[in-house]
Amino acid sequence: MIMKFKDYIYQRPDLEAIGKEFEKAINVLKTSASAEEQIAAIDAVNKTRRNYETMGDLCYVRSAIDTTDKFYEQEQNFFDENDPLYKNFLFQLETELVKSKFRSELEERFGRQWFALMEAKTKTFRPEIIDDLKEENKLTTEYRKLTASAKIEFKGKIHNLSQMGPYLINPDRATRRDAEAAVAGFFEQNESHFDEIYDRLVKVRNRIARKLGFENFVGLGYARLGRTDYTEREVAAFREQVVKELVPLSAEIQRAKMERLGISDPKSYDLGLHFKSGNPKPQGSPRDLVLAARKMYHELSPETAEFFDFMLDRELLDLEAKAGKSGGGFCTYFYDYRSPFIFSNFNGTSGDVDVLTHEAGHAFQVYNSRDFDVLDYIWPTYEACEIHSMSMEFFAWPWMELFFHEDADRYRYLHLTGTVTFIPYGALIDEFQHAVYQNPELTPAERKQVFRELEKKYLPYKIYENEFLDKGAYWFRQSHIFSTPFYYIDYTLAQICAHQFWLWDRKNHENAWRRYYHICVLGGSKSFLELCEAAGLANPFDEGTLKPVVAGIREYLAGFDQTKLV
Ligand code: ZN
Repeated sequence: MIMKFKDYIYQRPDLEAIGKEFEKAINVLKTSASAEEQIAAIDAVNKTRRNYETMGDLCYVRSAIDTTDKFYEQEQNFFDENDPLYKNFLFQLETELVKSKFRSELEERFGRQWFALMEAKTKTFRPEIIDDLKEENKLTTEYRKLTASAKIEFKGKIHNLSQMGPYLINPDRATRRDAEAAVAGFFEQNESHFDEIYDRLVKVRNRIARKLGFENFVGLGYARLGRTDYTEREVAAFREQVVKELVPLSAEIQRAKMERLGISDPKSYDLGLHFKSGNPKPQGSPRDLVLAARKMYHELSPETAEFFDFMLDRELLDLEAKAGKSGGGFCTYFYDYRSPFIFSNFNGTSGDVDVLTHEAGHAFQVYNSRDFDVLDYIWPTYEACEIHSMSMEFFAWPWMELFFHEDADRYRYLHLTGTVTFIPYGALIDEFQHAVYQNPELTPAERKQVFRELEKKYLPYKIYENEFLDKGAYWFRQSHIFSTPFYYIDYTLAQICAHQFWLWDRKNHENAWRRYYHICVLGGSKSFLELCEAAGLANPFDEGTLKPVVAGIREYLAGFDQTKLV
């Protein structure tokens, strides 16, 4: 009989016992005279880690599915309180692991990438920074609370920020303009508070970096993200290519769209609208969409067929919005049950299909990486993770009729052009953060000036009517800037890889799929650039990588039947 998600057993971890397991392993690493003994100790502690993580994830998912469940709420509190303790065990273990005198034997058994990751991670912590870390966490929580507190009065109703989303893409121009002003109004009212939070974040991060021996926060930000094979220099070169190749293409896409929409003086609030008739919507009930996905994955490849049946048989998808369920969507993985899990809140938009392609792409990758006993190989680093998910969105293209019926072509057009116009924005957010952390003494007003200048460089077609936004304050709403510095360019790097898969898939599906499947199996056992190489993807940092990608996209767009875009 197949064990279903609801039967996966949760049991609160025993932190004391776990602490002893770690201590034992650390001792062996410090004193043992043989590599075999160390390997056995690592295997044992990894088993303990897998169990702890599984319980943490089961608890997290179950309390997200039903936020009113008292039992899991209590268990979640246990994890919130005790996780720092566990993280501390882990830090001590990793510090010993990278110092092991049998490092080369250990690398041979567990792979070099694990040690590279741990080496980056051990550079990001020292006991002296604990108080600074607490302050950093407090400030990011304060940012989250401040944005969540938004009560925006619009059209006689009170809205939070995400509820304002539909008005910003409303086909009626005055509604869009007023909605943009209303959202900006919230940020303007709280301008000094946002400025203060960010200013203190920049200062505390700079202080942490200096204490850890970095020149400024940039290097530490990269180390926190486990970036082991590129630096800010490569990323800057990538952004230059974006300016040269993708900014012009994005401008063309915007121009063609405004012509289609009949807007002669496009403003920032027009950029979110795509078709006069509204955006393509999936057809049918959530159950219909899942059945369509099942048919799609059965036809796509034997590997995806097996994977999707695994997910359905074990009820590893919780897709529908319901009372008491927390918001958002994500994919996670239960180590002990070797099971991915997909969580979402279907709302009838094309986002529902994205869950079944994008999140399923993540799930497909972790499913195929499940044989690794090193936990840190189940998920690659962020930029590599998104290759799998974003590429699956494109591999799914031939089946879009199942979801969108006669709207499928409009969906494909919107999907592709959306991935293109996103990249300059992503590069803008990235360059802004480099400017901020390389110059931690900038004042809040100077930061806004820098942002507005960079907006003109990356999004030359973005023209504000709203004075507050024109001053350079749009980024207040970009949570990554506050919570996870330098995590954003990752999406653009992965997107360029996904575009390459898309182009291959259109020429030769078998070949494209074989390469894709290969890096799903490799999971996180290789670094970003090693994974690119393993798939035969051109390195996004290399001069000239973007040019042929952009040419391929242009060719597709030129051949697209424009009469469909109503
Ligand atoms: Zn993703």
